[in-house]
Amino acid sequence: MTDMYTKAVNTGLGKTVAAKLGLPRPALLRRHQPGATLTVGPVLLVADAASATTATAVGGVLRGWGLDVTDRFEGSVPDRGPEPTNGHPTHESVAAAEGETRWGAIVLVVSEVARPADASAAVLALPKALKRLAPHGRVVTVSRAAAPGDAPELAAARRGFDGFLRSLAKELRAGATGNGIVLADGIPADHPSARAALRFFLSAKSAFVDGQLLTVGSADAGHVESAQAWERPLEGKVAVVTGAARGIGAAIAKTLARDGATVVCVDVPAAGEGLARTANAVRGTALQLDVTAPDAGERIIEHARTRHGRLDVVVHNAGILRDKLLANMDPARWDSVVAVNVEAQLRINEALLAAAARGDVDGLRIVSLASTSGIAGNRGQTNYGFTKAGVIGHTEATAALLAEHGGTANAVAPGFIETDMTRHIPFVPRQVARRVNSLQQGGQPVDVAEAVAFLASPLAAGVTGQTLRVCGQNMVGR
Ligand code: NAD
Repeated sequence: MTDMYTKAVNTGLGKTVAAKLGLPRPALLRRHQPGATLTVGPVLLVADAASATTATAVGGVLRGWGLDVTDRFEGSVPDRGPEPTNGHPTHESVAAAEGETRWGAIVLVVSEVARPADASAAVLALPKALKRLAPHGRVVTVSRAAAPGDAPELAAARRGFDGFLRSLAKELRAGATGNGIVLADGIPADHPSARAALRFFLSAKSAFVDGQLLTVGSADAGHVESAQAWERPLEGKVAVVTGAARGIGAAIAKTLARDGATVVCVDVPAAGEGLARTANAVRGTALQLDVTAPDAGERIIEHARTRHGRLDVVVHNAGILRDKLLANMDPARWDSVVAVNVEAQLRINEALLAAAARGDVDGLRIVSLASTSGIAGNRGQTNYGFTKAGVIGHTEATAALLAEHGGTANAVAPGFIETDMTRHIPFVPRQVARRVNSLQQGGQPVDVAEAVAFLASPLAAGVTGQTLRVCGQNMVGR
């Protein structure tokens, strides 16, 4: 549910009053609807001359999706030979064609920029275009990851685009977002996972993902891209979602089912009614299970394999809060949060890794719910912050172990999401928590679910060990 304030400032009178008083005016975000267009308008593809070949590949991907793309490849490559004569339109020739266009997206390809001074050619093509970015528009950067052996000037340029993107995202308005794809060394821009990340960032599925960078590594998705693969990427797959009785977990179950998965919904017996409701809604099965049970992992694997014949995706979503200042912390509050939020995930992952080693599961996707509290910390949440940072830590470590079996492990870190968990926060801090992000509102459970579904999809095989924040670019943390 959209909060009352966001609704109010999107009515005629509310809009005027908020503008006069200089109050935040959060936009009603555009969210995924079946059959809706990928972007809200044509795409402007901008690159510096050195990145022109990479940008041409990106342009091919965008055009392959039926998007209307205008290229603008800027500048020459200093001391590195003549500008490529690849027949692309010049700045002047496209300027006329652009006319009054409202861009649905601007894609900036800067993967081959070799030193900070070379960034200006492409970057300074953006100011005019940004004024023409449509409401709910998208900016996506495609840059290259800094690597340990990089020359200092190359490392500065590569890392520079991280700060550039995060700052630019904070300047966008009217539901527009900015996110970045960072290609690992040797990864082409049209790598299947780069395409999947590009599509996710361009789409309405990433409505509450803002100011984030995803690195695409080497794993080959081994998956053919097709309209069917985009619509139902999890067709034939079996997914387990813990804490599925309500809130974010229920939304994840529904989104994975929408994407074609058969879903096993897990929750504690006390939440049996909600659990049955979700399981019925997704035509999946319900497994009443406390994830802290010592044999939880084995029971999950057994249920998925005996009832559905396989196991492809596990989403560790079950989580609890027991907030207290550390000065007042008691063992029950600390221990219960550690047991549910991180120890249970670790124990279940051990069982999953053992199953992968036996060949019982193959190409497993694990997605774990972290939190921005585990990145930036939060007063009264030493226990929760400890566990959620722990999730990020074990995700990185598990990714390396799962890679041997063709699997991935990633985390999603929500910021403020409108659920029962956040409904209990007192009024004033709740209002403040909602507004302190670039989109000036709380996210919806489905926003988290869309990020989970993207990471769980076969095409995201090259994205692993990462934490994707779904927080509207919360003004906290790194
Ligand atoms: P919620 O409290 O609404 O739902 C959590 C679900 O987990 C409930 O159905 C509960 O019964 C289940 N659960 C709790 N302990 C369990 C156990 N031992 N075994 C099995 N199931 C158990 O929470 P939510 O807001 O939907 O959050 C879901 C996840 O997202 C949690 O991990 C939470 O920490 C994380 N998160 C939420 C927010 C937010 O703003 N809501 C922000 C950051 C992170």
